Amino acid sequence: MCEPECPNNAISLGEEIYEIDPNLCTECKGHYDTPTCQSVCPIHNCIIVDPNNIETEEELLEKFVIIQGLA
Ligand code: SF4
Repeated sequence: MCEPECPNNAISLGEEIYEIDPNLCTECKGHYDTPTCQSVCPIHNCIIVDPNNIETEEELLEKFVIIQGLA
């Protein structure tokens, strides 16, 4: 359910599970108040924050601007 809902096209089917591209995921900053993939996922706590890719809100918003081609 999550893949078509991602505003950044960050989700794709990997070899075994759906995967999120950290270069494209803004945790939905700039689009929505909360991560849409988590909202639509029917499995509780399936989509969690990657401890290897912790970013500040400022960093996420900067990435949003770059992705939107506004930078
Ligand atoms: S948090 Fe938002 S941008 Fe990141 S993968 Fe989920 S739907 Fe896409």
